[in-house]
Amino acid sequence: MSAGRYAPSPSGDLHLGNLRTALLSWLAARAEDRQLLLRYEDLDAGRTVQGSAERQRVDLESLSITFDAEVLWQSQRHQIYDDAVAGLRLQGLVYECFCTRREIQEAARAPHAPPGAYPGTCRELSEQERGRRREQRPPALRLRVPDEDRDQSVEDRLLGRVDGVVDDLVLIRNDGTAAYNLAVVVDDHLTGVDQVLRGDDLASSAPRQAYLRQLLYGVPARSAVEYLHVPLVLNTEGKRLAKRDGAVTLAQLQEQGIGPEAVRDLLLDSLGLPQGPLEQALDAFAVEDLPRGPWTFQETALPPR
Ligand code: GLU
Repeated sequence: MSAGRYAPSPSGDLHLGNLRTALLSWLAARAEDRQLLLRYEDLDAGRTVQGSAERQRVDLESLSITFDAEVLWQSQRHQIYDDAVAGLRLQGLVYECFCTRREIQEAARAPHAPPGAYPGTCRELSEQERGRRREQRPPALRLRVPDEDRDQSVEDRLLGRVDGVVDDLVLIRNDGTAAYNLAVVVDDHLTGVDQVLRGDDLASSAPRQAYLRQLLYGVPARSAVEYLHVPLVLNTEGKRLAKRDGAVTLAQLQEQGIGPEAVRDLLLDSLGLPQGPLEQALDAFAVEDLPRGPWTFQETALPPR
């Protein structure tokens, strides 16, 4: 099976930026006869808003963005993530890390490490030291990345080559939940995802995710997945669109008398595609023709009411 996916965090209503990315996921998947899967990235219980997953689904469907197969919830997949880490452990590629966020920030950065990269503090702790530290705080689990593997790159259909430096990323957080990078890679692989379309703010994650996918499943990082990182929607100040930028969710727009069809048309127009049913837009859709720059949302672009 060949599939694309849309993977929102159920942390509130989707705004026009999220909806535009979802629409693109639908178009890009369908254009090449892929299925489209919906996955809720709800591992961060503190960010999950009760009922928002269902609202997101209803909003997507009201734009005719439909999905194949069963919806997947990351919060129900702990065992699957743990099994993946167990495999890496057997290869000696996992170590316990006791650092707090603050300690990581304060630690001297390794030369050439990208900002925020883990400096490797807990990499070589003795068994005795680990035992002592475990009594103070539960460990997170990190990936041991050999120095020669640090530089990775992927090919993106919109951005071209994306280079990245892979640090000893967290696999399992110290509260026992799978970290974002691990969950994404495991889920994408096990559900047959071979097209990853998402906002270009996540482009820098692609090299490390491709690397992890190769380690876990042996698929060559460069050829297993097609990446499409799409430009974000901006507000009139040139910043990434957010909920505080006025009427930006379907519910808010509806309150102003703007229904889902008008929103769909606005989004299609922003992509240079014909307005109307999605099937029609699909006929005109070509990845190569997509706008390469961000789209600025202006309320004046909305149809008169
Ligand atoms: N859950 C992420 C988000 O809502 C998307 C992660 C991904 O597509 O890899 O931004």
